[in-house]
This record gives sequence, structure tokens and C-alpha cells, in this order.
Amino acid sequence: MRLVPMHASFDVLVIGSGASGLAAAVAADRFGAHVGLATKTTVQACNSAKAQGGIQAAFGDDDSPEIHAEDIMRSSHDTADPRLVSVLTSEAPGAIHWLEELGVEFTRSNGGYRLARCGGASRHRLLQVGDRTGHAITKALRETYEASTGAELPHHALVGLEPASSGWTASFQTKDGVAEIDSGSVVLAAGGRCYAEAEHRGEFSTNHPNATGEVTRIAVETGAQARDLDALQYHPNGGAWPATMQGYSIPETTRAYGAVLLNADGEEFTDSLGPRDAVSQAIFDEVEKGKGVLTPDGRPAVWLDTTRIKPEDAEISLPYMLRRYRSAGIDPLTERIYTYPVLHYQNGGLVIDEDAETTLEGVFACGEIAGGTHGRNRMMGNSLLECTVFGRRAGYAAAARSSA
Ligand SMILES: Cc1cc2nc3c(=O)[nH]c(=O)nc-3n(C[C@H](O)[C@H](O)[C@H](O)COP(=O)(O)OP(=O)(O)OC[C@H]3O[C@@H](n4cnc5c(N)ncnc54)[C@H](O)[C@@H]3O)c2cc1C
Repeated sequence: MRLVPMHASFDVLVIGSGASGLAAAVAADRFGAHVGLATKTTVQACNSAKAQGGIQAAFGDDDSPEIHAEDIMRSSHDTADPRLVSVLTSEAPGAIHWLEELGVEFTRSNGGYRLARCGGASRHRLLQVGDRTGHAITKALRETYEASTGAELPHHALVGLEPASSGWTASFQTKDGVAEIDSGSVVLAAGGRCYAEAEHRGEFSTNHPNATGEVTRIAVETGAQARDLDALQYHPNGGAWPATMQGYSIPETTRAYGAVLLNADGEEFTDSLGPRDAVSQAIFDEVEKGKGVLTPDGRPAVWLDTTRIKPEDAEISLPYMLRRYRSAGIDPLTERIYTYPVLHYQNGGLVIDEDAETTLEGVFACGEIAGGTHGRNRMMGNSLLECTVFGRRAGYAAAARSSA
């Protein structure tokens, strides 16, 4: 890792070290650009590393990028941008091979990828690395970037962005005061705002404390257009009990491998593999009707019947979830668990084109901070994909812009 002086300059400056920022930084470095990767706290701190369930790509014999795109459009209620969706799904298989080239080892079975069907999907399409998919992807990207000539700027929180003669000047709050950095182009990859939003609402969130959204605000104040910023997503299956699991997102792959949602009477009240917004709403409605259950500390919940998952599936695809519950004294394979929706994802964000460029020339955005790819309702497994596909695109395009 190279540390940089307070008044450094780069060809490409990436803000944020989650999957999208790391993918952009690796891509820009491979293009030959002089890259700086600035991030609010440590390089490891992000939402991406917490992602468990998996990443979508059409590899099944009965699947195609077109069917993947249709599933996204339907789940988004036709609010997603078809141009971005087409890029996302057509580049998905290539993005998976790129991640493999960088060292990610996706779980395999019967000679191919182990593909699960996730909520809203019409096909088995979700690749996994056990239930630590985001950890595996960020680790591979980070190690690749750290082996490059790119610089890391930890503990650099973006506080301002201004046009400059050579491109852009970004200001950062650091431990030693405010640092100003010039760059030919900038990639905003600072994630969403659900941690801050949940604190504001007095609710639980699955998010990392750095998910506070100020970079979106800075970009909008600088003139970038945004869309669907009001569309925040609840993960249908937040852990509701025990207390140590509150705010934990129970992987949706529990439902992909057979778990179902039950009300207080033990009845299935919704399609457990429906789109996220539909499943979350069904849980809210069931509790509202008085058919939910109460956790031992008096919170609303319904049951997730995880006892229907085959132990062999759980061992391969849910080991981390099992470990966490078992260490809290509950075995999900022998007893049902309490669940309730929890604030999880910012669906909307900065408007981008197919190269991930925002409406500000030379400012790119990728990952959760960008809007359009998922419309107002994201499907599970498409965010890590978006980070990889549009992170890569942003990195290459930002490097090309800077060298033009
Ligand atoms: C618990 C959990 C499980 C999930 N499971 C899945 C899944 O199975 N599949 C899937 O596809 N998606 C999943 N998601 C969603 C997905 O992981 C995230 O949406 C995605 O990884 C976001 O990546 P990102 O690079 O955009 O942002 P993040 O990974 O959130 O990274 C943002 C980075 O920006 C930095 N930053 C923030 N503000 C500033 C600032 N002012 N200045 C500088 N840096 C800043 C942060 O410190 C961080 O490094 C999950 C999310 C969570 C929280």
C-alpha cells in the first residue's frame, strides 16, 4: 500500500472501497491509469463484504441474459432502465469469469455452478461462495488492487467536489485535517444510506455504519441528477430474535433452499420466493392483521420455518448463518426462527449512462450509489453483479476519459 501526500493528484480517483469501488479501481489500473482509492475509514469497511446470499448470472441451460432481464423488469414493476438492465445481464457471465480470474471460487456441484433460485427469479441463477459471497468477492478485488501500483487513502471522507481545469478537485476530511486531491476523473462508489436512515427512523438496518449517504448529497449539490431516491428496500428476513441477531439479514437462500414464511397459526401466507417488496409487504400485512408472533422481547415477527432446509444444502450454502444462530443457542435446522423486514438497500441513486457516467462530465458512479439498474425494487443477487459490471465499466471509462 502506498500512502499519498495531502495534495496528491491522480488520473482516476475512486471514492469508496466496497465491491464497486474496488472493481473500478482494478479496471482503471489495468487500463494504465494512475489511480487513487479514497475511503472513509479502513479499506475493508463496507456493505459489500457483509453480502452473504450470492450473485446472479444466467448460466443455467434453461436461462439467458434476456430472461434475466425480463425478471429484473418485472421485479422492478417496469421502473428499471432497460438500457442498464441489458448491460447488466449480458455482461453477467463475463463478470463472473473475471472474478474467477481474480481468485473468487464459486461453489460448484455436479460439474457446474451451484445455482439457486432467488426471490423474483424465474430460473435457478444465483451463484454463491458458501454464504460469504461478498466477503470472497471483496477480498479478491482488494488483493488484486493492493498488488497493483494504485494508491490507497484510508480515513479520507469525501466532504466536497468541485470542477477544476484538469478535471475535478475532491476535498476530504482526514485525521490530519482537510486534504484536497485533483483528478482527471472521479468514480463515486460510496454506497447507500440505509444505516443513517434506519437510525433516523429508530429501526434496525443490515447496513454497515459507513452507509450514510453524504456522497450522494454532495454529488446532487454539485449538479448531478438522481432518481428514485425515496425508494428504500426492506430485506424481508431480518433476524428478530435473539437480540444478537437483530439487524442481521437472514440470507434469502434459506428460502431458495426450502424455508417458508408462516404466521402464528402455522399457515403459509405468501409466496416465499416472491419479489422482495411483495414478501416484505405480506409480512407487514400479516402482522397488521394480528396474525404475527411476538419475539420474547415483545417485537413483531413471523416465523421462518428453516427446519424444511435439507441439512446437506445448509452445510454447503448456509454454514455462516447456521454458525451464528447456533452460537446464539438456536439451531435453525430443528426450530423455526423469528423474522421481520429490516431496512436494507437504497434502490435509487445517481443517474448514469451505460458507461456509468453521471450527468456531470468526468464523474462516474457505480454500485448502490447509482440508480436505474434496479428501478424501484432490486432483486437479490443483482447488487454484487451491478458492482462488478458497472464498477468495471466505470473504471475503464474514467481512465479513458482522463487520458483523452
Ligand atoms: C448484510 C447484507 C447482505 C447483502 N447480501 C447481498 C447479496 O447476497 N447479494 C447482492 O447482490 N447484494 C447483497 N447486498 C447488497 C450489496 O452487498 C450492496 O448493495 C453492495 O455490495 C454495495 O456495494 P457498494 O460498493 O456500492 O457500496 P459499499 O460496499 O457499501 O461500499 C461503500 C464504500 O464507500 C465508503 N464511503 C462511504 N461514505 C464515504 C465518504 N464520505 N467518503 C469516502 N468513502 C465513503 C464506505 O466506507 C465503503 O467503503 C447485501 C447487503 C448487506 C448489507
